[in-house]
Amino acid sequence: MKILVLNSGSSSVKFQVIETDLERMNAHQDQTLATGLVEKIGLSDSRLVLKVPDRKAYTDYREILEHRAAIDWVLRILADPEVGILGEVAEVGAVGHRVVHGGEAFASSVIITPDVVQQIEDCSVLAPLHNPPNLRGYYAAHAALPDVPHIAVFDTAFHQTMAPHSFLYGIPFQLYTKHALRKYGFHGTSHRYVAFRGSQILGWEKDEKKLITVHLGNGCSAAAIDRGKSVDTSMGFTPLEGLLMGTRSGDMDPAIVPWLMAMEEMTLHQVNTMMNKHSGLYGISGVSSDMREIIEARAGGHQRADVAFRMFCYRVKKYIGAYAAAMGGVDAVFFTGGIGENSPEVREWALSGLEYMGIELDRHINDGLRGGEGEISSDGSKVKALVVPTNEEKTIARDVVRVLNGIMPSWEPPETVSP
Ligand code: ADP
Repeated sequence: MKILVLNSGSSSVKFQVIETDLERMNAHQDQTLATGLVEKIGLSDSRLVLKVPDRKAYTDYREILEHRAAIDWVLRILADPEVGILGEVAEVGAVGHRVVHGGEAFASSVIITPDVVQQIEDCSVLAPLHNPPNLRGYYAAHAALPDVPHIAVFDTAFHQTMAPHSFLYGIPFQLYTKHALRKYGFHGTSHRYVAFRGSQILGWEKDEKKLITVHLGNGCSAAAIDRGKSVDTSMGFTPLEGLLMGTRSGDMDPAIVPWLMAMEEMTLHQVNTMMNKHSGLYGISGVSSDMREIIEARAGGHQRADVAFRMFCYRVKKYIGAYAAAMGGVDAVFFTGGIGENSPEVREWALSGLEYMGIELDRHINDGLRGGEGEISSDGSKVKALVVPTNEEKTIARDVVRVLNGIMPSWEPPETVSP
């Protein structure tokens, strides 16, 4: 079945067409037929890029003022006899939508019904920048493809297995009941895929081990996965908590916020922007939010780039230690994301000194592994370490297959709705 996967932002729509079904999933032979995006939606020079394996990328420009026109454009190009990959639009059998926030209402992927749309709208207060454009993408795609099933796959769903002692913050309980203020965690689609694929590579039964998955991209998060269930994760109520990121601070003393507002006379908005956009690798180094440039700068003797690099790796190490403690041990650590997949330096620094826990890196193999999948721990290492390239779109496509085949639990609207 050809599945259209959509990731709709406020001014862009990223898309992939993935051919998959139960048989292909089991054989790990899902096929990505095309990837692309429409960006600058709302402007006169919106751009569409279509990439098809073994072909030159196709690019076009036109004025696209809203998501419906963007989706129509994507479908027209996908079915274009010269540059497309579909004989006709009707070959699309289903659409998978990335939805950032499912709140407490969604613990797995679901077919989108009016009830589901209502719940996603209710969750918008928790992700005001993401859920509304996700929904706009859905409305547009549903209007263009009304006869195929549309499935929502949530970034937060995988972490809904966390227990209250793990997801609550130490603030008055009423704030949880009134505002649904709690840890949700993000990157769930990635953590779930990487845990599954890493276990498959090691020949482990699904859901039998204690895993720590570390997703290091522009946004970074770690997850503790105990026998298939997420029991803790480093991002929180928002994707600001936890590890140091490209421009996000990650963990810090919350008292810094009122202190800055008093001493620097910063507004709430300014502090928020500072923590999200001017912090992390960028804020510490003053060089870049891009790990490649940080590594280059520190090699050239740039001291703040060196500190930023050390902070980044140190936090990853701390979370690995914390999650091993949380689960009473760990059988494997899986690295993914642009940095996790491509930076042997970060992996080596993050794992150094963890030999006492049974994690031993094979430096030679680690140095040679950039971009591929494989084991980087030494033969004798008690705890396995692997690089597992993530593929969120593939996971969304697979969830479409699972939902349509009844492999995922069916969804009922919750009795008490939060938020
Ligand atoms: P996103 O979270 O936006 O999906 P990615 O997963 O693509 O981001 O990761 C982007 C990060 O990966 C950037 O910091 C980039 O510098 C880093 N990265 C990519 N290639 C390398 C490399 N060869 N060495 C170190 N870092 C890399």
